[in-house]
Amino acid sequence: MLNDTLKKQLGQYLQLLEGDVVITASTDDDKASKDMMELLNEVEEMSSHIILKEASLKRTPSFTLSRPEEEARITFAGVPLGHEFTSFVLALLQVSGRAPKEEQSTLDQISKLDQPLHFETYISLTCTKCPDVVQALNLMSVVNPNITHTMIDGAVFREESKDIMAVPTIMLNGEEFGSGRMTVDEIVAQVGGGLDTEELNAKEEFEVLVIGGGPASAAAAIYAARKGLRTGMVAERIGGQVNDTAAIENLIGIKETTGPALSQNLAEHIRDYEIDVMTAVRVSDVNKVNDIVEVELENGAKLTSKTLIIGTGAKWRNMNVPGEEEYKNKGVAYCPHCDGPLFEGKRVAVVGGGNSGVEAAIDLAGITEHVTLLEFGESLRADAVLQERLASLPNSEIITQAATKELTGTDKLNKLTYTERHTGEEKSIDLEGVFVQIGLVPNTEFVGDKVARNERGEIIVDRNGATNVPGIFAAGDCTDQTFKQIIISMGSGATAALSAFDYLIRH
Ligand SMILES: Cc1cc2nc3c(=O)[nH]c(=O)nc-3n(C[C@H](O)[C@H](O)[C@H](O)COP(=O)(O)OP(=O)(O)OC[C@H]3O[C@@H](n4cnc5c(N)ncnc54)[C@H](O)[C@@H]3O)c2cc1C
Repeated sequence: MLNDTLKKQLGQYLQLLEGDVVITASTDDDKASKDMMELLNEVEEMSSHIILKEASLKRTPSFTLSRPEEEARITFAGVPLGHEFTSFVLALLQVSGRAPKEEQSTLDQISKLDQPLHFETYISLTCTKCPDVVQALNLMSVVNPNITHTMIDGAVFREESKDIMAVPTIMLNGEEFGSGRMTVDEIVAQVGGGLDTEELNAKEEFEVLVIGGGPASAAAAIYAARKGLRTGMVAERIGGQVNDTAAIENLIGIKETTGPALSQNLAEHIRDYEIDVMTAVRVSDVNKVNDIVEVELENGAKLTSKTLIIGTGAKWRNMNVPGEEEYKNKGVAYCPHCDGPLFEGKRVAVVGGGNSGVEAAIDLAGITEHVTLLEFGESLRADAVLQERLASLPNSEIITQAATKELTGTDKLNKLTYTERHTGEEKSIDLEGVFVQIGLVPNTEFVGDKVARNERGEIIVDRNGATNVPGIFAAGDCTDQTFKQIIISMGSGATAALSAFDYLIRH
């Protein structure tokens, strides 16, 4: 079941087990059960701390992990290989008693949750953002006995997951709770935990307050802290868009990495410094009052700082056509790397003929039955090499001058209607998925007209990252910098922090 490299790695990890772990497996004669037992037998052979038992559980094949004499709170339904192998290994270590790496404040917030919370997460083994959710919910189950979590591989439990059109999809106590990548902090905030407003209000004034958790903000916060400045960071989530990226091959000095791995590295690097990190909370307003910046949070709390660095990045642009909102996660998707595998053998469309749209179409042509690429303009805007590659694929079609008008369906999307712009004729395509690839919008609405923005909503900065308001700086994809890339965002975050330091020593 495991190749020699994986076996070796697993053997090393299993040496870190701190106590006994009971694995209770539910099996039948199917191949998936046999694969699961092969994996579990190998694990049992590798460590004397593993006790393997069999019993009948709610789903077959599945297995639970528990400490001896304790009720099991973590279940894997399916075989946790692929991207979930790490989730399995981490769960073994945490159930054995090994301390998790999370901030103590996060662990305290999890412990305080006093309602029974039974989570189930539908995943696919090729999904790169699913392990984050599985690991977050497993951790919560280890920390708090009120919480249980079951990972369900949709490919094994097809009937049960037939209506799931995006992974991960998280259910809480039988109701849909969320989909897409979520961090522990976000989940805790959504179930009623989260940062305490009074504690936030009581915080001392910062010298540098950074808003955002992507590469720009991480660089800004680390640079500010290294200057010995009292630094705070308010971020909806650490990693930003990097979380949605599969492979990264252009972060110079690191030949190849993945989005989740880089996010994890950013979080660990931030943790090495005295930075007051406040996650799973959004900023809703910014005001400069008598040389001090006041920052309001969506939970009503207020923070103050001598300087502010805005690094709030960007998010996928919506088409804003009827049906887009209604069919989100029921056919409408934005991340081809993440959700592409769910459309295996189906007919899909990609809206947008720039580099990301054409790349998405090429990607999807390898998985789906057929891809139609719709471009609003007269020709595609992607690099010639990408256009040629797409045109060479037999199961793809390119339609230019197409204005998407409406998405319709029943409980799931089944039709896209567009207007042929040169004839005015209305046409439709029968399909099951639409990937929207029409660019990004900056996350800057919250600054309103208090900081100057251009017509695209990007914050206008000079070459030092300074905005039109003294003491307020901005960096990364939320600014009018020409190119939007990780390394560029990190550089601009560092520049903004050094400029804030310069501002502070002069004021
Ligand atoms: C699918 C995909 C693939 C990509 N691939 C690559 C690649 O291979 N190489 C490369 O160099 N670049 C790539 N990029 C671009 C790169 O990810 C971005 O340029 C980079 O992440 C921008 O960093 P940032 O810190 O400016 O913003 P972001 O990464 O967008 O981070 C912004 C942060 O701010 C938070 N935030 C937003 N609003 C608020 C608020 N009101 N309050 C608090 N927090 C808030 C967000 O949650 C987020 O944490 C890719 C982007 C995408 C979407």
